[in-house]
Amino acid sequence: MMILNNISDMRKIVDQWKKQGLTVGLVPTMGFLHEGHESLIKRAAAENDRVVVSIFVNPIQFGKNEDFSVYPRNIERDSSICQRAGAHAVFNPAADEMYLDGFSTYIDVGDISKELCGKSRPIHFRGVCTVVAKLFNIVKPDRAYFGQKDAQQAAIIHKLIKDLNMDVELVVCPIVRESDGLAKSSRNVYLNPEERKAAPVLHRALCAGESLISSGQKDAEAVKKAIADVINTEPLAKIDYVDVVAFPEIKPVNGDISGKTLVATAVFIGKTRLIDNFIVG
Ligand code: AMP
Repeated sequence: MMILNNISDMRKIVDQWKKQGLTVGLVPTMGFLHEGHESLIKRAAAENDRVVVSIFVNPIQFGKNEDFSVYPRNIERDSSICQRAGAHAVFNPAADEMYLDGFSTYIDVGDISKELCGKSRPIHFRGVCTVVAKLFNIVKPDRAYFGQKDAQQAAIIHKLIKDLNMDVELVVCPIVRESDGLAKSSRNVYLNPEERKAAPVLHRALCAGESLISSGQKDAEAVKKAIADVINTEPLAKIDYVDVVAFPEIKPVNGDISGKTLVATAVFIGKTRLIDNFIVG
């Protein structure tokens, strides 16, 4: 497995693969990999001749008071996980390789990026779309793999691909969880032991909401309230949002739930912001 730090080296390798008629899968990540990322890499390896995992903590998707500088990093460990999972190349550029002096071109997908996480992270999805478009231009993947863990992100990338006629197939993979239900996340390392014990409340609360819907409750407000009530039983938890939106449109559901619907939450456990969701319909 190759580790590439330069855009030009990455392009050369991809060009060689394409000349041989090989298909390429891309798994964009910010590193500090866990079994969630690994599931994406394995799926990409099963469906493509070559797999590139990008590992890049993208500065332009972090707000001023967010965790860019302390975001966990461990490229040696990540590389061995990538190799084990079947990747052929890791693309790990430095920030100044991706963003030259004077960089000023951003992609804004509009209203879809303003709901849910977009409310508390106003520049986040602009940064995500910009870096994903750059990665697509560099790696030219046939397929790109994203997790349902970041369901709004997946919906936004879907729209980006469609709106800009990108020739990439989006594959969205299921959420991988710890045994107590907590969705795996690189940010889980921020949790102290007490917070770690509290964190599965997100999943418990969403499960309560999901069974309420299964038992016939259609009213979005009632579902949101049931979820919030469970989260609020946990003293270390502070809700950022609990929301019900049409999927993949990410339009708020007012009144009854019908059709494909995303139920999502973001919760601070101490200082760590965690997200989780489920999709019905
Ligand atoms: P990140 O490194 O957090 O930017 O995540 C990179 C990709 O892995 C994104 O598409 C995420 O949705 C996906 N991912 C992160 N955590 C999980 C998880 N627990 N299960 C499945 N996919 C995940």
